[in-house]
Amino acid sequence: MPRVSRVSVLQVGRVRVRPDNVAGTWRPMLWWTAFSRSWTPWLPINVVVVEHDEGVLLVDTGQSPASLGPGYHPGGVLGWAYRRQADFDVDAADHLPARLGGIGLALSDVDTVVLTHLHQDHAGNIGLLPHARVLVSADELALLEEKQPAAHGVMPEHVAPASVTFTPVVPAPLPAPLGPFTTGTDLYDDGTLVLLPTPGHSRGSQSLLVRRPDADPLLVVGDLTYDPALLADERVPGTGATAQQRASTRAVNGLVAAEPGLRVVAAHDPGAAALVARAGS
Ligand SMILES: [Zn+2]
Repeated sequence: MPRVSRVSVLQVGRVRVRPDNVAGTWRPMLWWTAFSRSWTPWLPINVVVVEHDEGVLLVDTGQSPASLGPGYHPGGVLGWAYRRQADFDVDAADHLPARLGGIGLALSDVDTVVLTHLHQDHAGNIGLLPHARVLVSADELALLEEKQPAAHGVMPEHVAPASVTFTPVVPAPLPAPLGPFTTGTDLYDDGTLVLLPTPGHSRGSQSLLVRRPDADPLLVVGDLTYDPALLADERVPGTGATAQQRASTRAVNGLVAAEPGLRVVAAHDPGAAALVARAGS
């Protein structure tokens, strides 16, 4: 029976955002984008590595060091909004190849990449993996066809280079529901890795359920939340489509209730690495 042999959380860059972004408040996004004077502490940009008998899979790819240089971000008003909403850092130790090397892997070992969504701190290093199968939800890929993808937080020149071929993910009816989820994509038809639609943070955000032998299952949720402790109260981030984020949060809470021991792994949770490491039964 194929199985997951190891799950690792790697820090591929750091980000700080406005506190109103972590958990939405009464203040409209435009207001705090313009006037907020505070940042959160620096938070990790987490990449999750799943070693499965069928191959090595990455969930997200982290922030590119190229983003620290000039000309990476849009100019004008959009560029102002990018700079006001998030601040990034990638030091030499945070480079994706270096972090993979730290757990004994190379870029060439990665067979499959799941992108939770197409924001720069998740898809920024996809250009390093032209050989991999890259799974992105069809709804998220549609953002690339918008007149101004950057207005949706998506910079095609960085997250969709010509060298990369995307495999669109369209959720299909599951043989048996997973909590409230009735559609998804079972990657190896063995129930060990199942993609589930969790839109809201972006139009096509998706999460990955990881079932491990002799250890608690994990749900890797990207940016559905900055802090899994906020999920129970349905407190959602201050960017994205609020009603859709709440619906996805309720679905995840239903899955947590249905899957004993399920741990939620968020892309910017400083506790994610420890949570994955100790989530044994
Ligand atoms: Zn994001």
